[in-house]
Amino acid sequence: MELKKIDHIGIAVRDLEAARRFYEESLGIKAGHEETLGEMRIAFVPVGEVNLELIQSTTEDGVIAKFIARHGEGIHHIAYEVEDVAAALKELKRQGIKLVDERPRAGAHGKQVAFIHPKSSYGVLTELVSKK
Ligand code: ZN
Repeated sequence: MELKKIDHIGIAVRDLEAARRFYEESLGIKAGHEETLGEMRIAFVPVGEVNLELIQSTTEDGVIAKFIARHGEGIHHIAYEVEDVAAALKELKRQGIKLVDERPRAGAHGKQVAFIHPKSSYGVLTELVSKK
């Protein structure tokens, strides 16, 4: 497996509109594409090759809401692009790496995604993303 690049950095926020405004008005970056994925509203903010993924929970007990309750707002995960998430998961499993997702699932932008458990990745929730 090879990490090609950082695809995006996920940031948990309480108020998506306010966070968008901060990036647009204070930092001068135009927010792009927005979508709803399960219990999450997501806005992508492209910064060069990397996207910031601003994530707001639409429910009180969603994973992002729980994360904010525990840690406050802030960096939630880092996502790396790989060629093939399914193949990467197989390889990691063989190495005994603790995974959140045993198999790829549908992520934003119609990509395939899977998460590595932060216990195996030094406290950083790590997402793998591939186009197929
Ligand atoms: Zn993500």
